[in-house]
Amino acid sequence: MGRRRSHRSRQRSQALAYRAAALLAIGAAVITGALIALSSAPRARLDGTPLRIPIFPRILASVTDSGRLEPVGMVIPGTRTRSPAWPPALLNPEARLRWGWDLSLGRPGSREVLFTFDDGPNPGTTDRLLPMLTRANIHAVFFVCGWRLESHEEPLRSRARQILRDIVAAGHIVGNHTVHHYQLPTLTPERVRYEIEHNADLIEEVIGQRPHLFRPPYGAYSEEVRRHLVSRANELWMWSIDPHDYLLVNDAEGVAQSIITNLGNHAGGTVLLHDTHPWSVAAMPKIIRWLDRENSDREQSGRAPYVVLDPARYMEGARTRLPLILAADALANSARPRGRDASTDAPAAVEPTTGVAGEGPVDAGSMDAGR
Ligand SMILES: [Zn+2]
Repeated sequence: MGRRRSHRSRQRSQALAYRAAALLAIGAAVITGALIALSSAPRARLDGTPLRIPIFPRILASVTDSGRLEPVGMVIPGTRTRSPAWPPALLNPEARLRWGWDLSLGRPGSREVLFTFDDGPNPGTTDRLLPMLTRANIHAVFFVCGWRLESHEEPLRSRARQILRDIVAAGHIVGNHTVHHYQLPTLTPERVRYEIEHNADLIEEVIGQRPHLFRPPYGAYSEEVRRHLVSRANELWMWSIDPHDYLLVNDAEGVAQSIITNLGNHAGGTVLLHDTHPWSVAAMPKIIRWLDRENSDREQSGRAPYVVLDPARYMEGARTRLPLILAADALANSARPRGRDASTDAPAAVEPTTGVAGEGPVDAGSMDAGR
């Protein structure tokens, strides 16, 4: 008995020793692997430019749909921190148009970037865009026009519905861009309500939630639209970087260059693109690669990088702009004759084709410090 017990305890201690050795070996392998990964920078990028790697868990390259290896920078640091709750508290409860423009600029002087895609979901383009955004770990806003979701054409209807579900599954936010993309100020009050509310109904029917964000087609606004948004506690969200991609037909390089230039000029902002244009979708990898390269340069020279944020975090940053906006309103009110409320401005229409839509209407007293 005693002998057997000691034999058993020897077996047990041997097993423990093996287990400890195995754990040590695994630990050593993990540490060695991490050291090798960290010490290997810089490496040659596939397109020939040096690529600074890898602060784990940066994604460096990925296989495209056609099987090609494509360098993809993950441009968002700190995505593991928890995002603020969605929807966030209203920034612009009166849905004032100028506030909508100013807030889209984001946190002052921050180089924070929010990508927004309008007019989809469009089979053939939106579904090609989604994997690009996922590879780069970008979470955007899709301002959706619901007409495809209720189309009598198949497979348009079912594909559009599936893409909308895919948008949500990939972690993006769906915003309201009306059913038919009409100029809202030209419609009757009943029709305005229908365009906004029926679109929200269609979106809710497919993804189970009503949109919190609203963007008027063409940026065209009216007092009727404003009142309706206030009654629904919707957040009006405009844009600050507009490459006019609908004019740059088949010119992905031109779209990318316009956005890159404006990101530099404005130190970040809300980017407007249309996921209905193939060339706009094709511009995204170019923009992502530029952001990655630019951030590497900035990192090396100790300058603040661009940060592509998810909508909740971008809007949280834009909240810090509110004191500037209130100060601008106070200044404008004090400069105007009494009896006129400068803060309820709602200029009738802003045409994107005029080339000034990205800037929005600017009050005499508007402060754009630190844009
Ligand atoms: Zn639109």
